[in-house]
Amino acid sequence: MKITPLLMGSLAARLPPRVRRSFDSSRPPEILEPEPWSEALPIYAFLVEHPEGLIVVDTGQSPDVNQPDYFRGDSVSEQFLRQNFRFDIAPEQEIGAQLEALGVRPRDVRWVVLTHLHTDHADGIGAFPHAEILVSRREFEAQVRRPRGANVRRWPSWFSPRLVEYYPPGVGPFSESYPLTKHEDVQMVPLEGHSTGHAGLIVWDGPQAILFAGDATENQADLLAGRIPGIARSATEARASLERIREFARGTPTIYLPTHDPAGPARLAAREII
Ligand SMILES: [Zn+2]
Repeated sequence: MKITPLLMGSLAARLPPRVRRSFDSSRPPEILEPEPWSEALPIYAFLVEHPEGLIVVDTGQSPDVNQPDYFRGDSVSEQFLRQNFRFDIAPEQEIGAQLEALGVRPRDVRWVVLTHLHTDHADGIGAFPHAEILVSRREFEAQVRRPRGANVRRWPSWFSPRLVEYYPPGVGPFSESYPLTKHEDVQMVPLEGHSTGHAGLIVWDGPQAILFAGDATENQADLLAGRIPGIARSATEARASLERIREFARGTPTIYLPTHDPAGPARLAAREII
């Protein structure tokens, strides 16, 4: 199965420890001691050419983020994004433009799977008015009720994703999943913690599994070291998700592809398992 990584640009963040803690509770984030900016991290989306249809996993950030009023709303979420993230997204990195450059028309994409609704994963959805967009019900409802990192004000008016609820038997340590294809070789699984309803997508390619892990960890090294992401709505759930990924990878040859791992595409090209 052909899988193509799409480099959507990069982001840098400054996340003081206090913010990390406050993001772990229901309190709004506080910026008390600004940290230096992190190095720029890539933002990846992926195109999966499945026999049942084209699948896009996450959509990156919109190049419109360079407009000065992009995060000018007064919600806690937009204030947080405005103060703590810097994006570098070229116009030609917009996901629709990148697909066209590959000879793929965005309207021919059948499914868009969003691991979660944070702005750097979901703000490219404008390219896909004709696709079926999937997001976990828990994620969607939490972000609509109280946006945290989602740029709800910027969602297209037509955005009405299929709200995914998982069901048994699941796969490996995941007791529930959501099979997307008739073949059941593409499955969404819950990887909650980084955001309330964060999801992963498992694509089976023969005996190998490719796990699109969103922000379950920042990179593979963090997975191996047991480090949850700096932002976690629930550290407990993030840790449980990380353990489930490790257990899954012990039983199945797994290629691990988080969104912000600079080494992900090379592992994919080399079919390098965890
Ligand atoms: Zn995120």
